[in-house]
Amino acid sequence: MIDVVDVWKSYKSGTRTVDALRGLTCHIEKGRFAFIVGPSGSGKSTLLYMLGAVDRPTRGEILVEGRNLIAMSEAEQNDYRREKVGFIFQSFNLISNLSAVDNVLIPFLPRGVTAEQRARAVDLLTRVGLGDRLDHHPYQLSGGEQQRVAIARALVKQPLLVLADEPTGELDSKTGDEIYRILRALQESSDTTLVVVTHDRRFITPRDLVLEIQDGLLAGDDAEPASPHGL
Ligand code: ADP
Ligand code: ADP
Repeated sequence: MIDVVDVWKSYKSGTRTVDALRGLTCHIEKGRFAFIVGPSGSGKSTLLYMLGAVDRPTRGEILVEGRNLIAMSEAEQNDYRREKVGFIFQSFNLISNLSAVDNVLIPFLPRGVTAEQRARAVDLLTRVGLGDRLDHHPYQLSGGEQQRVAIARALVKQPLLVLADEPTGELDSKTGDEIYRILRALQESSDTTLVVVTHDRRFITPRDLVLEIQDGLLAGDDAEPASPHGL
């Protein structure tokens, strides 16, 4: 479903160029729970944001269900992000003057919310354990509860792909366990592909895909930088 082929991403930083990704190749099957792990600065977030078409690689191909994200126009990339991708951030990114249910409905606000969409938002909030907090505002919710609202928001449009950047980075470890338990249950009950950047390997199980990034490449690919095979 996702093929990343020889992707390079260079950032210009004053007179220096930083190669955040250096010819990375990998494959992620549909419905997988994939973890991107590796040292700080190794290119994990860069890879995640390339998958979400938040930014374009300098070189290479990213194929999602056969469509090359890099060849898309700006407008096509915007549609892809809006319709196909759910994002979950470390810092929740909820809107403080909206209720939990309205935060979940944010993806639909520009075009007006249908009764069916509202029902789906309520259902998702119930599944993440917030059925009794639908009208609470973010400041009335704990960090873990706010992240559960953000998870429901990421899933409400039934995306192909959910991308999460350190989703438990601001939570204590017990709350983090709860967030991963919810993410896993939602991933198992849908065909959504979930890609998570994390420092915390506790939640990785043997059936998950682990993309270990080191210095802009998959670990192990350094020895053979020309290898087209990824994992
Ligand atoms: P990680 O998520 O593994 O910590 P990143 O993907 O954030 O790594 O960053 C990889 C490298 O690219 C780092 O050296 C980082 O400083 C650099 N980098 C990331 N984003 C930018 C940017 N917008 N401009 C310049 N350098 C960047
Ligand atoms: P985190 O590790 O918390 O995910 P990142 O290192 O990925 O944080 O950086 C967060 C944001 O800052 C990203 O949008 C990234 O592109 C940008 N960034 C990272 N490193 C640099 C850098 N050296 N120069 C400019 N922007 C950067």
